[in-house]
Amino acid sequence: MLNNEFNDIIKKKFSGEIFDTISRVADEMNLECYAIGGYVRDIFLRRASKDIDIVTIGKGIELAEAVTKALGRKANLSVFKNFGTAQIKYKDTEIEFVGARKESYNRDSRKPIVEDGTLEDDQNRRDFTINALAICLNKDRFGELLDPFGGLKDMDSLTIRTPLDPDITFSDDPLRMLRAIRFSSQLGFDIEPKTFDAISRNKDRIEIISRERIIDEVNKIVLSPKPSVGFLQLDQTGLLSIIFPELVALKGAETKEGVGHKDNFYHTLVVLDNISKKTDNLWLRWSAILHDIAKPATKRWDNKFGWTFHNHNFIGEKMIPGIFRRMKLPLNEKMKYVQKMVTLHMRPQVLVDEEISDSAIRRLLFEAGDDIDDLMTLCEADITSKNPDKVRRYLRNFEIVRQKLRDIEEKDQVRNFQPPIKGEEIMEMFGLGPGVEVGRLKASIKDAILDGVIPNEYDAAYNYLIEKAKKIGLKPKGDDVR
Ligand code: ATP
Repeated sequence: MLNNEFNDIIKKKFSGEIFDTISRVADEMNLECYAIGGYVRDIFLRRASKDIDIVTIGKGIELAEAVTKALGRKANLSVFKNFGTAQIKYKDTEIEFVGARKESYNRDSRKPIVEDGTLEDDQNRRDFTINALAICLNKDRFGELLDPFGGLKDMDSLTIRTPLDPDITFSDDPLRMLRAIRFSSQLGFDIEPKTFDAISRNKDRIEIISRERIIDEVNKIVLSPKPSVGFLQLDQTGLLSIIFPELVALKGAETKEGVGHKDNFYHTLVVLDNISKKTDNLWLRWSAILHDIAKPATKRWDNKFGWTFHNHNFIGEKMIPGIFRRMKLPLNEKMKYVQKMVTLHMRPQVLVDEEISDSAIRRLLFEAGDDIDDLMTLCEADITSKNPDKVRRYLRNFEIVRQKLRDIEEKDQVRNFQPPIKGEEIMEMFGLGPGVEVGRLKASIKDAILDGVIPNEYDAAYNYLIEKAKKIGLKPKGDDVR
């Protein structure tokens, strides 16, 4: 980057009330003070970033207190005495203050011994050269860049590299291995070979890191522009087998009697990349990761049909709670959504292959509800054939299915449909207590509507119910039930 251009950008990014105040107060307190880490990195990457990390030589909390006072009523201070840090929330910005520190790690413990240190000590404990850049905020050195490890050069060559010997950096805090892969996937950077090899060597150390911290990084990989970049590196370094063995189990393409099946690991990554071009929805991306997760468990050789994976969608749905629980993903409606996507992921495909009946379309609309568009997005992403004619044909057919879905929804409104007669009303009508009979009658109304036997209306459903009930010997209690 040209010097002038650099100076202009620095001036712009470090102007305004917050930085003016920090600079002035630090000078008054006679404290050396720097902006460091992600905020500085993102300036060079031209990424927007709001959160600011400030490091001072000593007295981080005291500086934060004095800055809060100077900023006035709109500034909110939180002090974390145990960590020696303080955070100011000011408008929509979070500013983190810490005194420069030196960390020494003992191999058997996750907790480092922390002492006050110099700026250089503080930069040494950072994870990557691009995250160790510091800019001085004191008036007489304002804007001076401190880059002891060549972070700027690594930024230019798009390289992730640890500031110290990578075996030390990774062994000290093994989460950094995942962070290296996360930054590589997020930013499109390469991990420098020695750093990469050290991840493979230290992979087992990841076991000492909490699953919550691990999943935060994994989710950032999932949300990166081309997540396969991160997943392939997780696989190559051996980390994936430790944190997500079910995905590794998808690997391999067996051949029997000259018939092969696709390698479902690479297929899944292509589906994930495809869907990531269409959506930032983390859970739809997870649905892509998990859509074929039960293929290894359901794989069979059939002399007539070759390789089969019967019911892999249903078995996949059942595997999801175990995977979510172990990985500390949420066990709530987000998981249910992923389960639904996985169960239904082959349905639109079946509609393409068959003569499309209105009834099949109605059933799909009913089961997918508001998630029908997401399901179609997943199905389209699932087309990974290398034959462009085949891809075009599938996409065209999916367009026909989409149009049919729109037509039927407009006509019948089954998307969020509830049968027009509720279970309680059925009990009341026929003097029944809760039980299978009520469930069966209710289901028969639903089926009749979805199959197009009757319209989705109360009167039609009522008459249908009376007829149905008659057949099994039930009579309404009286004529006043309506
Ligand atoms: P993002 O905001 O995208 O998560 P980030 O990782 O840089 O980016 P933070 O996690 O807030 O943001 O970290 C801020 C800075 O703290 C990093 O730039 C890095 O210098 C340092 N840092 C964070 N985590 C670690 C770690 N595990 N080991 C060493 N340094 C770290």
